[in-house]
Amino acid sequence: MPATEHHSIIIIGAGLSGLFTAWKLQQNKYDAIVLEARDRTGGRILSPQINGNKDGCIDMGPAWVWPEFQPRLQRLLSDIHIELFKQNTNGDMLYEMDANTVERYSDQSSHEMSYRIAGGANKVIKTLQSELPHNSVHLNTRVSSIEKTEPAASAQLQVHAVKDEESIIYSADKIVLALPPRLTKSSISFHPTLPADVLQAWENTPTWMAGHCKIVFIYDKPFWRENNLSGEVFSRQGPLTEIYDGSPADESSYALTSFVGLNAQQRKQMNTEQLLEMCLAQLYRLFGEESKIVKDIQIKDWSLEQYTTTETDLSTTPQHPQYPADMSRTLWNNQIILAGTEVAREHGGYIEGALESAEEALTLLNP
Ligand SMILES: Cc1cc2nc3c(=O)[nH]c(=O)nc-3n(C[C@H](O)[C@H](O)[C@H](O)COP(=O)(O)OP(=O)(O)OC[C@H]3O[C@@H](n4cnc5c(N)ncnc54)[C@H](O)[C@@H]3O)c2cc1C
Repeated sequence: MPATEHHSIIIIGAGLSGLFTAWKLQQNKYDAIVLEARDRTGGRILSPQINGNKDGCIDMGPAWVWPEFQPRLQRLLSDIHIELFKQNTNGDMLYEMDANTVERYSDQSSHEMSYRIAGGANKVIKTLQSELPHNSVHLNTRVSSIEKTEPAASAQLQVHAVKDEESIIYSADKIVLALPPRLTKSSISFHPTLPADVLQAWENTPTWMAGHCKIVFIYDKPFWRENNLSGEVFSRQGPLTEIYDGSPADESSYALTSFVGLNAQQRKQMNTEQLLEMCLAQLYRLFGEESKIVKDIQIKDWSLEQYTTTETDLSTTPQHPQYPADMSRTLWNNQIILAGTEVAREHGGYIEGALESAEEALTLLNP
């Protein structure tokens, strides 16, 4: 089957890393497209709108950024006119020792330096995408294999993808892999086969936050603020181990955002209703009667996301890993270039890392 389309550069993955790479390339008039398996852009960035168009957005993926240490993000936000606002830390935080003991502390927040993106993190994604040429992001297009048919350094690469259950072949001079290495290893095959040490290095690279579950409880009133609480909680009891004030910048609604402490295997043992019942009981223990008047609940279990998480991610530790600085960023004579936050040398795992890795990929593409 002949290739249906040829492009100089094909980027695989329309997360922040892939979209930022495409955005920079189009500024230099490069012929580049992005292939994305999901029916949406953003990857791990996901900020659904609460209550239709009426209320603001909440972050079900990344929420915090630290501008003091993240120059690339600062630059990008300033270029595309998106503002930051400070994470609410006013008021006391709570420490739940066990189901009967809650301690209250002032001036102990771990988020004094944390900021959030006004309009939700997805605003960055939407803005970058809106500035790309029409039809340069192909959604619902899952890449399954990459092939180099001739040994010549300049030979075209074939990208085999599946779109709406139909096979489709693209050809490209260069490819940017803007997805987690572990996911690349488990979902894309390479012909000729890649060296075993490359595949092992990819398998050994954990995908940051894969397997986590975030729940957001939405309210009409910020009752915790009225009780001089910041909304921030650390709990040794659970099921929610961390809670914070995740209200949108425009305060059109108020939200308590939380991380579930049970791992993916433990969550599988119960249904969503059982999990939410336990979470609401915990909010009642911590915040009292008003926590019951919840307007909406959003839940995102990233362990169920096949375009983020692999089986291996479910069995590894949730601590932030040390990402390997010495991983090879190119394959096949620089025709394949790695991007994605997990290959960033300094800020691996974070939003800043997605931009850092994209910048390195752009240098390697040498546009
Ligand atoms: C719950 C959660 C909380 C987080 N909190 C923070 C935070 O507070 N601060 C912070 O800085 N970072 C945080 N992060 C991490 C942050 O989200 C990531 O660093 C960043 O979004 C990674 O972007 P990326 O483009 O590298 O990868 P991704 O966003 O994973 O993009 C990869 C893209 O590739 C696509 N894809 C996968 N397989 C294929 C295929 N075969 N074919 C085509 N496309 C494919 C995927 O659908 C996806 O769109 C959090 C993440 C999560 C999940």
